[in-house]
Amino acid sequence: MRAAAEVHSRGMETRMQGGCLCGAVRYTLTRPPNYVYFCHCHDCQKESGSPFVTDMNVDRDAVHLEGNLTRYTRTGDSGKSIHRHFCTACGTTVYTEFDVDPDHVSIKACSLDDPSGLAPDRHLFVTRKQPWLHLADGLTRYERDC
Ligand SMILES: [Zn+2]
Ligand SMILES: [Zn+2]
Repeated sequence: MRAAAEVHSRGMETRMQGGCLCGAVRYTLTRPPNYVYFCHCHDCQKESGSPFVTDMNVDRDAVHLEGNLTRYTRTGDSGKSIHRHFCTACGTTVYTEFDVDPDHVSIKACSLDDPSGLAPDRHLFVTRKQPWLHLADGLTRYERDC
């Protein structure tokens, strides 16, 4: 995995920390993300108010969370539930869980204290990409999920 290798090369493999905008929710990753992706799906656009989000795919058991979160659940394209967990104080979505893939969660990439070492490597749901967003990064594109 490119993202993991680059994170390793920067010596951040043991602890990666982040949190929400107000700092009430904090987390530590005990392993680097499996991959980092851009998601152009409609729900991510609505949630963020932006044409895409940048998320890290992380093993669920590598995430240690502190702070008060609440969640909003909605049915995804798979027909199974997607749960977006956000800080009760500032509303920042910290992580998303998918009933279709219970072993992994997605964490907003720039919620890391230092996301500069990440290497996003794919675009998901490009069928939903806004026509005014022009991609020239040459990364792998998936019509839907990867
Ligand atoms: Zn907060
Ligand atoms: Zn999405």
